[in-house]
Amino acid sequence: DTPVIYAITPTYARPVQKAELTRLSHTFMLVQNLHWIIVEDADDKTPLVANLLRKSDIPHTHLVAPTPQEWKRKEKEPNWKKPRGVLQRNKALEWLRNELSYDVTTDQGVVYFADDDNSYSMEIFDEMRKIKKVGVWPVGLVGGLMVEKPILNKTTHKVAGFNSGWRPERPFPIDMAGFAINLGLLVDHPEAQFSLTVEGGYQESEILRHLVTREELEPLADYCTKVYVWHTRTEAPKLSGEAQLRKKGMRSDQDMEV
Ligand code: UDP
Ligand code: MN
Repeated sequence: DTPVIYAITPTYARPVQKAELTRLSHTFMLVQNLHWIIVEDADDKTPLVANLLRKSDIPHTHLVAPTPQEWKRKEKEPNWKKPRGVLQRNKALEWLRNELSYDVTTDQGVVYFADDDNSYSMEIFDEMRKIKKVGVWPVGLVGGLMVEKPILNKTTHKVAGFNSGWRPERPFPIDMAGFAINLGLLVDHPEAQFSLTVEGGYQESEILRHLVTREELEPLADYCTKVYVWHTRTEAPKLSGEAQLRKKGMRSDQDMEV
């Protein structure tokens, strides 16, 4: 059978949240056998996310895991200073390990960390169903490059290195969107998770170091020659008109979910 893809998405409230999640849900609707684990960075589940999941018809699990105030990025702080999505992804891993019903064969699952703002081609989901341990592939528009990708040995077709120019000394210098993991492997290694205290850029290495060696990585997407996912980032909208309205105690989205 086709393995189930467990797509883990951390998400947080901001003006573009519904637009991002709508776009992502419409991608996921095109994918067979996908289970969406959406984890809100909030104290409680919000109606916005609950409504969206209900409408989408995608098999899903809705969780929450608030980032403590001291780990939240301050308004003007550069975004590399604080890790994002860490406790939310760990919450989803905990659910997969402890609460996923026992009758699922864990060998038949693949876990992918799908941030809410990236752009995904359907093809990436077919690729990750081939994974035995950990699969890797190129990611567009990340790390200061058009594409970050594993470099393969020309004769063995195994991963020999990476083209990343940013902190290339990292054990796994790849982006969160550039790999997926066999579910059974994750269940067998409960120590594999993310951490608030590792340096910027080391989250991927933090989880993968427990699970595989570089040599074991499975290159996908046509020997890492195709880009099926892009690390796009959405500009925060300018809402100066909203500030004007607020002075009069009004808002444009009164009684409307935007
Ligand atoms: N995220 C979150 N809480 C935050 C900031 C981000 O849950 O305070 C989520 C966000 O919705 C996304 C993931 O964590 O799914 C990665 O964040 P972001 O896309 O901002 O990171 P970047 O693109 O800069 O790596
Ligand atoms: Mn992002």
